[in-house]
Amino acid sequence: MRLAGKTALITGAGSGIGWQSAQLFAQEGAAVIAVDINEQGGRQCADAILQSGGDATYVYADVARASDCQRMIAAAEATYGKLDILFNNAGISHVDDDDAVHTSEAVWDLTFAVNVKSVFLGCKYGIPALRRAGGGSIINTASFVALLGAATPQLAYTASKGAVLALSRELAVLHAQDNIRVNALCPGPLRTELLMKYLDTDEKQRRRLVHIPMGRFGEAEEIAKAALFLASDEASFVTGSSFLVDGGITAAYVTPE
Ligand code: NAD
Repeated sequence: MRLAGKTALITGAGSGIGWQSAQLFAQEGAAVIAVDINEQGGRQCADAILQSGGDATYVYADVARASDCQRMIAAAEATYGKLDILFNNAGISHVDDDDAVHTSEAVWDLTFAVNVKSVFLGCKYGIPALRRAGGGSIINTASFVALLGAATPQLAYTASKGAVLALSRELAVLHAQDNIRVNALCPGPLRTELLMKYLDTDEKQRRRLVHIPMGRFGEAEEIAKAALFLASDEASFVTGSSFLVDGGITAAYVTPE
């Protein structure tokens, strides 16, 4: 088992990448703190782990709120004695996120609060806990859009994910001597609720698929497997990376017909 004896806190565990990662990390021996603002999804995630013989606890938190982030980290240490893996994964893609002219200030601020401030707050309270455990792994979910511009605009989302990359790099440099590795995970377009809500017609999906050399959307399980690698000691020399799992979308200039 690749995470035996470890405690992992995963935000956004109620759905998609967070859900799949929580199940996989638990199968690999980790005790999981499953965090979500959606109580139903978060509880179901923890229950599914318990039913398969693993160990998990649901903790409610809005990752954009400092007091909630402080409480989720405290819950990990109180329940399992330590924290080894912090997966800052929760994120939103707002339906009214558009270009500079049409995106409202409220949508911009909300997107940055949930996607960027959450990573800062997770680290603010999580890094002291990882230090107390003697080190660990932080994984921050960014996106391929941090590296590519799209003609279908989502300006606040794109900028927020660029910020996650910059944050992750500097955190990696600052905490390498603490034995804490920090990596940004950059998924390509996935067949999850988050993206399908946004690409809500066949035409919109087709316009995204033509850019992916593999010609398909990724699955949340495929991202969870990459997160498992970054979380585990197998990635012992991997820090500061922008870890792409994207079906080749960032490598493509022209895709096959
Ligand atoms: P998802 O919508 O399936 O899951 C996100 C989870 O985060 C949900 O359970 C939601 O309740 C939770 N959440 C939202 N706001 C929260 C808050 N304030 N506090 C706590 N929890 C909150 O989405 P997903 O596709 O699994 O996305 C996970 C991460 O991956 C996000 O950061 C997203 O930006 C990123 N991502 C997704 C894709 C994609 O194509 N789906 C691609 C690249 C990156």
